[in-house]
Formats: sequence, C-alpha cells, structure tokens
Amino acid sequence: MITPLIAANWKMNKTVGESVRFAQQLVAEFAEFTEREIVIAPPFTALYPVAQVLQESPIHLSAQNVHWNEKGAYTGEISPGMLVDIGCEYVIIGHSERRTLFGEKDDDINRKISTALTFDVTPIFCIGETLDERIAHKTFDTANRQIKEGLNNIPSDDIKRIVIAYEPVWAIGTGKTATAEQAEEVHRYIRELIVDSFGEDTGKNVRIIYGGSVNGDNIGGLMTQPDINGALVGGASLDVESFRNIIKY
Ligand code: PEP
Repeated sequence: MITPLIAANWKMNKTVGESVRFAQQLVAEFAEFTEREIVIAPPFTALYPVAQVLQESPIHLSAQNVHWNEKGAYTGEISPGMLVDIGCEYVIIGHSERRTLFGEKDDDINRKISTALTFDVTPIFCIGETLDERIAHKTFDTANRQIKEGLNNIPSDDIKRIVIAYEPVWAIGTGKTATAEQAEEVHRYIRELIVDSFGEDTGKNVRIIYGGSVNGDNIGGLMTQPDINGALVGGASLDVESFRNIIKY
C-alpha cells in the first residue's frame, strides 16, 4: 500500500513570514498524522526558515526547481547540494510553467532528475499534455515522450524513488479538473509504461500523483482511483484551510 502523497506548490507566492506561519499551522495540526505524506514547496526565499519549522515534524520540504550542475557560474540558479544543505528532501522538476514560460526541454529535465537523485533529493517529475495535444488525441504520445526522455538513462533502481506528477496543462490553474476517470486512464498508462521499461516491481511501487485544479471537493473522487497515489496542489494549497481539507479528504 502506497501512502498518499499530498504536495503543495506555492509557486511565486508568500513572503517568509507568511510561509513560516503556514508551516507552523500545519505542524501544529499534522505532527502526529501519518496517513498522508505531506510536502510543501515554498519559494526559494522561504525554504530555509520553513525548514527550521518543519524540523522534527513528519512534513517534508520541497524546492520548486533546481539546476543540474553542482556549482559554478550559473547566475540565479540553485544547486541540489544547496537544497540538501538546508534540509530539502524533494524538488519539483519539469513543471509545465517551467517548460512553457522558461523553455525547459525534456533533456534539461532529464539532467535535473539525474543530479537530484545523485544528491538524494526526490524529484517530483511533472508531465502532462496541453489542450491542443488532448484535442488531437496525443495525450498518451505526450506522456510517452516526456516519460521516456525525462527518465532516459536513469537506473531502474532509482525510478522507485521518483514521484511522477501527471498534470494536464489544460487543468492547471484553470478550475478545469480532469475527471477521476480521465486522470486514472493516463495514470494507468504511465504505470504500464514504467512496468514495461523498468520492471513490474518498480512500476507497481512508483508514486504517480495528479495535479490540476485539485481542491477539497474533487480530491476524494480522484483518490478512489487505483493508480492515483496523491496530488500536487497549486492554488488550493495557498490557504491553510483549503489545503487541510485536501490532506484530510
Ligand atoms: C500546479 O501548478 O502544479 C497545479 C496543479 O496548480 P493548480 O492546483 O492551481 O491547478
């Protein structure tokens, strides 16, 4: 049985003070809660102070991005070693906003996943089709390409450590959630692809979470599906009350 993983992606929102207060409220409420694995991804400026709040708690810290090199002349970038240094255990890689607004390619994403794993930071590897691709019946082709290229040359043993987030781009921040059945169809496809490429045990155990306008009302239905192991939540994770409702679906 895979423990459901509920991750908050705060994107470019929240000051240090707001992030710390949110984290304190979560710790107060979920310090003993083991039914879900809870992950929060504040902006870079708040990672260190939030790490101090989460110490000794079961809530995990994630970054929203990372560079693929260990150090060097990469102005404005953050290395995986820097994330480890402040207690960051997860990193979101390949989010659709990084792909579309910042030009990240499958190959860049592959390098980031590889370096994150080397540093023992768990990648939350995002994939998903655009609306045009869905209309053109290319949903599975896109998932296939993004998974194959994103996980190229990653050893089988490491695949189990990765969290795959299926996030249809048309559902992110739009209020349009995929139905539980639409999401499950793609999750099942991804799991079969992982089984075919990396073996039965890896495919059965890899965590595949859903993202795209998840909220307290739709999470329950999504989580009844056999291949959905959790959620990556943007907008509805910015408010403690609505994030709490998602965690406690
Ligand atoms: C996201 O950005 O990862 C996301 C799923 O956003 P939202 O929940 O707002 O659609």
